[in-house]
Amino acid sequence: MSKVTIRDIRAILTAPAGINLIVVKVETSEPGLYGLGCATFAYREKLVAAMVEDYLKPLLVGRDVANIEDLWHLMNNNSYWRNGPVTNNAISGVDMALWDIKGKMANMPVYDLLGGKSRQGVAVYRHADGKDLDTIVENVQKYMDQNIRHVRIQWGGYGGQAGSINRPEGSPQGVYYCPDQYIRNTLRLFEYVRGKLGDEVELLHDVHERIPPIDAIRLAKDLEPYRLFFLEDPLPPEQADWLKILRQQTSTPIAIGELFNNPKEWDYLIANKLIDFIRVHISQIGGITPARKLAIFCEQFGIRTAWHGPGDVSPVGHAANIHLDLVSHNFGIQEWAGISEELHEVFPGSPVLKDGYVYANDKPGLGIDINEELAAKYPCETKVTMWTQTRLPDGTAYTP
Ligand code: MG
Repeated sequence: MSKVTIRDIRAILTAPAGINLIVVKVETSEPGLYGLGCATFAYREKLVAAMVEDYLKPLLVGRDVANIEDLWHLMNNNSYWRNGPVTNNAISGVDMALWDIKGKMANMPVYDLLGGKSRQGVAVYRHADGKDLDTIVENVQKYMDQNIRHVRIQWGGYGGQAGSINRPEGSPQGVYYCPDQYIRNTLRLFEYVRGKLGDEVELLHDVHERIPPIDAIRLAKDLEPYRLFFLEDPLPPEQADWLKILRQQTSTPIAIGELFNNPKEWDYLIANKLIDFIRVHISQIGGITPARKLAIFCEQFGIRTAWHGPGDVSPVGHAANIHLDLVSHNFGIQEWAGISEELHEVFPGSPVLKDGYVYANDKPGLGIDINEELAAKYPCETKVTMWTQTRLPDGTAYTP
């Protein structure tokens, strides 16, 4: 085939499930040949779209689609200041689309381009939550009945259920929670669920960086009898140095990384074996190209992958996760928020969950498309983000 070049790049904004999604479409000089990539930064969607259309498009139009590695570095270096969430998500949108195009040109799924399958289906974990302990047990049981072996349990969402909190007069509005109450309830939760459901189910938990570092260490130790599959984000990235101390005191497996942007945030954690699972948000680090390198880097140190897979990843991003999961020898587990019927309609070819495992389809590229007409029926909403306005009982702003 003669040289195929980039003809156009667009950001498509859509919210079929009520969450802002940004998908990048790269069109080529070859009629009908295009690729899709996930650039979802749900809370700053217009900035990513501007980055893609006003800055990356003029940089890339006319260039050869074949040279993904070179184009990735070109995009990363072009703004001089790099490794930010807006730039990385925009780069990811183009990067994934270029892998999609390469797969279509080669008539191979992306997992074949990356080395072929290490497994046929991808084991996932689901989320079980509830207002009371029996509801949580029922929700875990429901997943176990569907052959899901790994379930993340939370009592009342991140930071737990805020009972009545006595705030200082004049405290600002926000999402209030009490770290001490959360820690006590989380221990009760694990004792109860293990007692009811036994040892067969693998249990996970997300601290969501809502407690002070020394409390995170104590919690990880106190949870040891319940044999977690992993404890997620016990610390914020800014306090990751504490992991050195945590590791000396507890064998509870640690998963971290959904907030990471910059390789310097993960390299020492991996090289010093301070974590057990890397769970970056793949669009947040710049797409498939850096994620594949990161997975291979982790493999050298016995660290497994657990890519971030919440609702604020587009189905194109979920497909990228699954293709990497299928290939990576050191795959650990995949978070699976589920893909709604509306999302399946807008994104035909989305990965599917069957009997405990998620499967990619075997079409060339990422195997996923977008119905742009339908996507336009679900416009994004730009609004002030509320759930990140977290506060301690005395009104102090805290990481969400
Ligand atoms: Mg998380």
